[in-house]
Amino acid sequence: MDAAEIKALDAQYVLHTYGRVPLVIERGEGVTLYDTDGNAYLDFVSGIAVNALGYGDPDVIRAIAEQAGRLMHVSNLYYTIPQARLAKMLVEASFADKVYFSNSGTESVEAAIKFARKWARTRYGAHKTEFISLSGAFHGRTMGSLALTPRPHYQDPFLPLMPGAKVGVYNDLDSVEALLDDNTCACIVEPLQGEGGVHPADPAFLQGLHDLCRQHDVLLIFDEVQCGLGRTGTLWAHEPYGVTPDIMTLAKPLGGGLPIGATLVTEAVAGTIEPGDHAGTFAANPVACAAAEVVFGKLSSPEMLEHVRMIGSYIQEGLGDLQSKYDAITEVRGRGAIWGIEVDVDDVGPLVDACCEEGLLTLKAGAQVLRLLPPLVVQRQHIDQAIDILDEAFSRE
Ligand SMILES: *Cc1c(COP(=O)(O)O)cnc(C)c1O
Repeated sequence: MDAAEIKALDAQYVLHTYGRVPLVIERGEGVTLYDTDGNAYLDFVSGIAVNALGYGDPDVIRAIAEQAGRLMHVSNLYYTIPQARLAKMLVEASFADKVYFSNSGTESVEAAIKFARKWARTRYGAHKTEFISLSGAFHGRTMGSLALTPRPHYQDPFLPLMPGAKVGVYNDLDSVEALLDDNTCACIVEPLQGEGGVHPADPAFLQGLHDLCRQHDVLLIFDEVQCGLGRTGTLWAHEPYGVTPDIMTLAKPLGGGLPIGATLVTEAVAGTIEPGDHAGTFAANPVACAAAEVVFGKLSSPEMLEHVRMIGSYIQEGLGDLQSKYDAITEVRGRGAIWGIEVDVDDVGPLVDACCEEGLLTLKAGAQVLRLLPPLVVQRQHIDQAIDILDEAFSRE
């Protein structure tokens, strides 16, 4: 089937919840994607921060094939080897004592919401149920996580949402303090906002939020679904801030492209959770966990993290040069392999399209931010190529 036929099928049979780029992607290799017409694209989207190792990593493929041959699914009625081993890896590399596995980012946030509620109810009774999220946040699109994603465009058609969700201003500690009271159960924050425009938390804000939560005995949840697992050049995006949360959510890159989410918790939270409190039929799928063991081993290696920091400085230099060349670029933000170019236009869509035409895939983070999320294994020559294409796209603006 050619691209036109696939698009026609999709138009007729797939529910239209996505605005799509008009490419039918057929395969990937390294950091390059190929469409059905044989065109090659340098991929600075990575399936939205998922394909951290690029495409076709032989070790990930082998782990998936071997586990698929051995055991694809069995339910959490039974113990499985990959689940237990992956949990150990995540706990030993983080602040956490226990892990709950799910299938996506939004599910990892839903689990965090339930665990926080259970903790609060166990310690304080039924009143302490409210959450504080922050302006610009993105935590997912199911009813609980959507309530913590304060955007009218996403929320309004689906009201009413989970009650008791309040919204502070990102990087404004006073705004959060004003919302905290005896009913607050947890605050949820991305140490670096991805969908919201690539905004890192100010150190004083994240540290202050941590202290504020301690003072009020409110749980602190870090959503590292996008910024975690090496993307910022440290294993956890919160590492350079010197504070740790009570709960952390992970997903996107963890399964090397297979769906898996994880909710990491401290013993204080874990101690309030009992069998039956939460579950999922597909949760901790053995194939996804086996893939994640390999992915996590690679993403957490000192060499990989050093590489991400190196390419981070290289991207920063390249984008800095573009910024001095084009007045339309008002700010460049990011770290490691997550970057946002703030552009003084109504919509960066045409820039994304222009890059795509020249063979570079990028994406938006809000109307005015062009976002770059290359695989973490990207090399300098790919970055040179990407900067050249961006240069070309901006010169046409
Ligand atoms: C993408 C994302 C989610 C939601 O993950 P899904 O797998 O799409 O449900 C949650 N939080 C953050 C920070 C994200 O970037």
